[in-house]
Amino acid sequence: MNIYSIPSHILVYSPENDGVLDFGEINGYIREKFMNIKVEARENFFEFIKKFISEEAEKKNLNYIAKRIVEAKIIDVGRKECKSEILPGEIEYERRFMEGKTKSVGILYDGIKLSLLYRGFIPYKEKNWNYCHIIFTNRLLGTWDENDRRYHARASVYAFPSLISITGIVEAPAKPREFYLDLYAGKSVDIIKEEYRGRFIDYDDERLTEVAKGYVMQAIFFHITGEAFCNDVNCRLFNAHWQEELITSQIKSKYEFCNMHKKMLEEINERENE
Ligand SMILES: [Zn+2]
Repeated sequence: MNIYSIPSHILVYSPENDGVLDFGEINGYIREKFMNIKVEARENFFEFIKKFISEEAEKKNLNYIAKRIVEAKIIDVGRKECKSEILPGEIEYERRFMEGKTKSVGILYDGIKLSLLYRGFIPYKEKNWNYCHIIFTNRLLGTWDENDRRYHARASVYAFPSLISITGIVEAPAKPREFYLDLYAGKSVDIIKEEYRGRFIDYDDERLTEVAKGYVMQAIFFHITGEAFCNDVNCRLFNAHWQEELITSQIKSKYEFCNMHKKMLEEINERENE
């Protein structure tokens, strides 16, 4: 793994709705890890770009963005094509969502398409590798997998900019197998959730902040090295497919990073010091 580009700035955008997430703590954590990089906590991405819209071409208004977001909606997880026709009310819904006035109700969006769309609205000065943009969202993201030819829900999409989905952290890594067996057996979700409490992250879970730190580190490592993940389940860069793995790598592990990533982190901090 090589160190390619160390950014001068890490810009973190808060989600449309904070919920239980302690955004201040997350940004404090990044500052602690990258002592020589300027970390800036920003408002929700759309609140941020609104300031630039009046100066931009007229078509780049909020309705236009909302329309493009609708086009990133996945209609069928077994089909690569996203939404083509837009129903009345959908643009309005997305506008309200951008402003944090409504909550997601199980809609899956193509994460790569959203990242590309968002990239278009990043101010020109910040549209280069000196700036690492990390956008938190409440939208549920999916990416297309050519192997089994279907969309899979994801907690994060690492690109320029990177997206981290709060909904995805809860919904994408699988809950314990027994959870689903009980569910298929007809037990009520509330009862099963109570039974397996602690073994998965839920929406009102205080541990969300701690877990989100790991996803932020993956996004930053992706930016710097081109590789977000590690094979060590005890390292924060582990790509968890199960909730229990996620809890191991982000909370229960005795160390934060494996030896290799610990060394890389030191090297990144040293290089920036030069
Ligand atoms: Zn590692």
